[in-house]
Amino acid sequence: MNFHILTRFPDMVEQGLSASILGRAEQAGLISVHAVNIRDYTEDRHLHVDDYPYGGGAGMVMQPGPVVKAVRSVQEKLDRPARVIYLSPQGKTFSQPMARELAREEDLILLCGHYEGLDERAIELVVTEQVSIGDYVLTGGELAAMVMVDAIARMVPGVLTNSESAEEESFMQGLLEYPQYTRPEVFEGKAVPEVLLSGHHANIAAWRRRESLRRTLAARPELLDRAELSKKDRAWLDELRREMSGPDGGDT
Ligand code: SAM
Repeated sequence: MNFHILTRFPDMVEQGLSASILGRAEQAGLISVHAVNIRDYTEDRHLHVDDYPYGGGAGMVMQPGPVVKAVRSVQEKLDRPARVIYLSPQGKTFSQPMARELAREEDLILLCGHYEGLDERAIELVVTEQVSIGDYVLTGGELAAMVMVDAIARMVPGVLTNSESAEEESFMQGLLEYPQYTRPEVFEGKAVPEVLLSGHHANIAAWRRRESLRRTLAARPELLDRAELSKKDRAWLDELRREMSGPDGGDT
């Protein structure tokens, strides 16, 4: 899968995405990250890509010319049209299902805004969708693009090894993940739950499922409305609700 990130700060995204699992995936040819400097597409002799907003007001706006030219130049090199995502606080909120869906694309163009954002005509002309990483405002789209690339790339087959499998992680089954433990068996007086040392796979799976439900109920109860729940899950949830509303409840 190929990510084309259009930005004013190509070094930032290239460096940020070249380490660890994503760096390994890029070396293995499973993903590629191309950072395109929007500045290379300006005709301004001072290489400006922004200007004052019509109508006045604070800040600068990215001009449509260089942005549209940069997107079209990437599109022209591809075999088929790629989706163009503008990172914007006004977009649809990014999520795990969205990451999974976008991971099926061969190429994705991610457009990073800066200053006050893009001239609206650039959005109308080349952007196919707008995505936000949350209800807050960043100074630029680079960190948001990096968040998206990281979450999408992990869904590309082969990027995670079996031992890094994403299947049981938070949100993959509509729930938060269960707690994880590694050595030592006791740390500062806190022991690993007995069941995890038992080697009894069915009991471990049941414990993990119940803990997943407990965490989701405590921290993100709204996720339960959309999660696929078995009869057993629902019975556990009833128990957990009773436990949590008791005098010692709500410990997570
Ligand atoms: N004036 C814009 C508005 O109010 O919608 C905000 C512009 S923001 C300061 C500059 C750039 O950062 C945006 O063009 C966008 O690319 C990026 N950005 C800011 N917050 C973001 C978010 N929550 N998700 C994705 N991108 C964001």
